[in-house]
Amino acid sequence: MSEKINIAIIGGGIVGCWLALELSRSEKDIFLFEKNPGVTTGENQSSRNSGVNHAGINYDPDTRPLKARLCVEGNRLWGDFCEQYSLPFIKVGKLMVALTEEEDRELDLYERRAFQNNVPDVRKITAAEVRKIEPNVDARSALFIPSSGVFEPTSLLRQVYFLASSQGVQFMTGTEVMAIDAKQGKLSIRIRYRDGSEEWVETQRIINAGGVKAVSLAKMVDKDFPLKTAFIRGDSMKFNRKARHDLHLRGTNIYPTPRTVKTPFGFQSTVGVHLTPMFDIIDGQYVIGDTVMVGPRLTVVHSDDDLQTPMPEPESFVHDTGFFPGLNAIDLTPNFGGIQARLDGYPDFYISRDRLSANIVHLVGIDSPGFTSAPAIARHVARKFFKSST
Ligand SMILES: Cc1cc2nc3c(=O)[nH]c(=O)nc-3n(C[C@H](O)[C@H](O)[C@H](O)COP(=O)(O)OP(=O)(O)OC[C@H]3O[C@@H](n4cnc5c(N)ncnc54)[C@H](O)[C@@H]3O)c2cc1C
Repeated sequence: MSEKINIAIIGGGIVGCWLALELSRSEKDIFLFEKNPGVTTGENQSSRNSGVNHAGINYDPDTRPLKARLCVEGNRLWGDFCEQYSLPFIKVGKLMVALTEEEDRELDLYERRAFQNNVPDVRKITAAEVRKIEPNVDARSALFIPSSGVFEPTSLLRQVYFLASSQGVQFMTGTEVMAIDAKQGKLSIRIRYRDGSEEWVETQRIINAGGVKAVSLAKMVDKDFPLKTAFIRGDSMKFNRKARHDLHLRGTNIYPTPRTVKTPFGFQSTVGVHLTPMFDIIDGQYVIGDTVMVGPRLTVVHSDDDLQTPMPEPESFVHDTGFFPGLNAIDLTPNFGGIQARLDGYPDFYISRDRLSANIVHLVGIDSPGFTSAPAIARHVARKFFKSST
């Protein structure tokens, strides 16, 4: 490797890849270090998520200002990007459904928030209108959110990676960052290559985009880094929408009103178990297929790689989707599990310079809607920390 590099990005998930692409427009000599053998191979959040391009109505701009702003901006940027490169993305819209009077009142709150966050064309609809959109969904009322969509995450990730590579970013896959040294005004990272050999590499700047490992990476520089993470696994199941008439969905995202999950740090807000159409490939083209994802159902786990703790029973998925009465436990088969890290007492994305070393930027707590927000996160970082003109 070269004696001294300009920017070291740690983590080749969607956030690291977008940062690489964005910064490659104004910076040279960027290296991205990813411990997995490739950017779409291995366990990370960017390859194991629900594939929803969130509209941005869930995030209170007072308590989660970055999520509120960057989700809405990211939603729009992905739309343009996917159109430009003909990527699998379809704006199927979303119904946030209310089953009770209390939930119906909650919809009013989210309708106001949609307005505050500049989410376009959100409107409250009646039970009869819900049935017109999705005849098998049973709800008292709903919000219809047309700017929400579905994408096939790994195709999008691969495209960002290709573009960044072609702009000169060096992707060091199969290469793990083992330590960061920021003493005596000099920055270095210790990397381990796939053959087990290690070396120190000097760098001018570091961006920590390590996903669920981001807090551990931050602690390599600042052992008193102020945030802690709880690991939450989201498991999903799936069913075939053509298996029975009452399982048929036309293809809209169906969500309950937001739910909470109990973490070791207290209750946190989450989108709840939802129904999301999945892609299929027919004649070489991505189309909405017959499989519908149900999930994620959240379980607090003890480590960032705990896929062993048993997944919740199918009955619990049925229980959580009372708005879709045709679904039975027997219809469900396991789909996937993905682990995210939630921050203790900090509900927003945490994007900040290191407290001790100004040339390190940490991106921590990039949980959902992190995939949707990734292009906007990259712009935000480029403008705020790198004086980019885009
Ligand atoms: C079940 C589930 C469903 C979700 N659904 C949605 C959704 O529908 N829509 C949405 O917008 N968001 C969703 N999310 C959130 C979204 O997937 C994440 O916010 C986003 O993918 C985070 O991207 P990232 O690049 O920050 O992290 P990651 O994708 O986790 O990437 C971090 C990378 O850093 C690498 N790394 C870590 N440490 C090191 C090291 N020391 N050296 C080298 N490499 C290292 C890891 O190997 C990893 O590849 C979901 C998440 C989960 C878990």
